[in-house]
Order: sequence, then C-alpha cells, then structure tokens
Amino acid sequence: MKHPLRPLDILREPAVRSALAAAWEESNPGLIGGHEEGGLVVLNDDEKLSVLRWPVGEGSRIKVPTHHGCAVNGRPIVATFHTHPNTGPDFLQEPSETDRRGVRDDSELKGATFVGEYVVADEMIYLVTPSGAVRELDRRADLLG
Ligand SMILES: [Zn+2]
Repeated sequence: MKHPLRPLDILREPAVRSALAAAWEESNPGLIGGHEEGGLVVLNDDEKLSVLRWPVGEGSRIKVPTHHGCAVNGRPIVATFHTHPNTGPDFLQEPSETDRRGVRDDSELKGATFVGEYVVADEMIYLVTPSGAVRELDRRADLLG
C-alpha cells in the first residue's frame, strides 16, 4: 500500500471493507436491539491490512483492548472502528462527544500510521480524527456495498 495511508483508501481495501460490513450486520442494526461491534485495523509486515475484532461489550459501549504504543503484537494500528447500530430517534448516528474524547485523549492512539476511528452508522461512515474532529467520509451503502 502507498504511504501515508488515507482513511478512504483503508476502507476500500477488500479485507477491511468486508470486515466492517460484517461488523455492521452483526451489530443487529435497527430501531431496537442493536449493540455496538468494533475492532481495529493493523498493518502487517507484508504491508497488507488486517482487521482484529474484539468481544462485544455491555450495552451500547465497547472497550478498546490494550494497544500500547499504538500497536497490537508489534503491528501498527492504522484505524479503530465501532458501529452505531440503533437507528431509533433517541440514538445519535454521528460520533458522540465520548467517542471524540475517547480518540483524542487516548495517548496510545497517536502513532504515525493512525488515521482515526471509523464510526459506522446507518446512513454514513464518519471518521473521528486523532485530534477528535469528526468528518463524514461517505455513505455506508456506497463504501461497504
Ligand atoms: Zn460511538
């Protein structure tokens, strides 16, 4: 892959795309009964990207596993992600204040390769940048097909 990695290029990698589409489906999107799914994207020695999923958390929040120095088992983290599967009017689609602070204030998510956290929602995939800003990347249906 070309460096530096860009958020949309990462999403377009087939391994990443299919893993995020699976996470979305497994989070049971709908008006009720959804739960967040998440994981992270790492860069392997062969320059390919892999997605590591983590266990489902309680309620609507999930907790990121240990990732000292912005790496997992020596592989640099390029992105993290989680879903916002609840589409009812009481639920926020875009990244929450907690989501933004979680990325911004995580001193272990400051590696040179890290582009931010994808938030996969019904309409849109958002990116929370390492500084905690929110960008709309594109429509979920277009990105994950
Ligand atoms: Zn969230």
